[in-house]
Amino acid sequence: MPVYDYHCKDCRKTFEQTLTLHEHDQSQTRCPHCGSKNVEQDAAAFYAVTSKKSA
Ligand SMILES: [Zn+2]
Repeated sequence: MPVYDYHCKDCRKTFEQTLTLHEHDQSQTRCPHCGSKNVEQDAAAFYAVTSKKSA
């Protein structure tokens, strides 16, 4: 599954979401930090596997 990078316009944090294409089409991504739906996907920043694990 692809991993999408997002940034939250409310708390200005970035986060990653692993979504199926179907889930991605639903556009219900919410910020895990503040719960806001006011998030924006970072352009050209999706990839199948992440190596920069921050958690
Ligand atoms: Zn947020």
